[in-house]
Amino acid sequence: MLNFTGLRITFLGTGTSQGIPIIGSTHPVCKSKDPRDKRLRVSLLIEFEGANYVIDCGPDFRQQMLTHNVNHLEALLFTHEHADHTAGLDDIRPFFFRQGDIPVYAHQRVIGELKKRFEYIFKTENRYPGAPAVALFEVINNQPFIINNLQVEPINVMHGKLQVFGYRFGSFAYLTDVKTIAAEEKQKLRDLDVLVVNALREEPHYSHFNLEEALAFVAEIKPKQTYFTHISHLLGFHAEVEKQLPDNVHLAYDGLQLEL
Ligand SMILES: [Zn+2]
Repeated sequence: MLNFTGLRITFLGTGTSQGIPIIGSTHPVCKSKDPRDKRLRVSLLIEFEGANYVIDCGPDFRQQMLTHNVNHLEALLFTHEHADHTAGLDDIRPFFFRQGDIPVYAHQRVIGELKKRFEYIFKTENRYPGAPAVALFEVINNQPFIINNLQVEPINVMHGKLQVFGYRFGSFAYLTDVKTIAAEEKQKLRDLDVLVVNALREEPHYSHFNLEEALAFVAEIKPKQTYFTHISHLLGFHAEVEKQLPDNVHLAYDGLQLEL
């Protein structure tokens, strides 16, 4: 895959499924005044050649689009169907009204799940006039694809027993909700400038890397820089965890931008 430059990455959300703070929680991290401890549900914006690409569309999608003045959307890419990654799909309506059908890239199984949960979006007859519509593109493992000029390589990972897609764009890769990854998929992660990967908390979890597993993965893949995402309040305060990490490994936080 070509190493291209000109990507601008914005972390739209870096929190695990309930977000931080959790509703009603009195945990000190949920009460933190540090804005880096406020984490919306995970999502990433990639700007390339004037186009906007968003990975996942969770329940905070609307707020994320408003916060970052995203006024047009060239495609949505899904990692998997869990609600923290898909529940905001109805809020593509303002983009749909201006642009028409919004391109959506996802595994065939995820497309099937979206059709169940958002049946009205996919209906072809008796459509409600305000309903948005999408143009569907199936993502198949080992089949890199191009959206406009953006080259995308899918990376197959496992979230417990559930298949999830990560995505590589040039020397940047975004993996979330990973617990295990096959050796042949790791081959697709060579020579990265920046890796983003999930690190939930210190305690083990059946379907997510904990901090130790995420650090071991980084040591194996050897990207130049790594940012952790999909973070639970149980991982601790951003400022304290950040200090304990190796020099080229960081916690991401909402609003962080990277240029590649
Ligand atoms: Zn998730």
